[in-house]
Amino acid sequence: MQTEVNKSCPSSVAQVGAILLGVINDNGSVGYLETPVEIDEDFLTTAGENAALERRFRFSSKCVKSGCEQWHDGKCGVIERMIDLNPDWHEHNPSLPSCSIRPTCRWYSQEGAKACSHCPHVVTNSLSPVSLV
Ligand code: SF4
Repeated sequence: MQTEVNKSCPSSVAQVGAILLGVINDNGSVGYLETPVEIDEDFLTTAGENAALERRFRFSSKCVKSGCEQWHDGKCGVIERMIDLNPDWHEHNPSLPSCSIRPTCRWYSQEGAKACSHCPHVVTNSLSPVSLV
């Protein structure tokens, strides 16, 4: 039996050891960091003073599969729903953002380049109605 290499969740909560994947820009889309930055206590203390970190940044941590409430039928339901809601999005936005986790990304491994067209529009734990996480 083939063992799956650990995958990375591209929309995790802020926690020590997570990777800072990107910053939410003023227009609501994600600006990706090309170099991974590991989150430490100092970052959580300093950056977390104002509002929920997940509404200002995107973080990545190990995908815990069935340990996550978004996991359904052996897949991540978040990106699946995003693509179902906007099936033509990739056709109009085919470019791949320069993110730092593509080789291990759960969404990319599951949905391919289509995931990368939707990914910049996901805000984790947002109170906004467009959030699916
Ligand atoms: S979906 Fe694509 S852009 Fe988003 S984190 Fe994964 S590989 Fe990067």
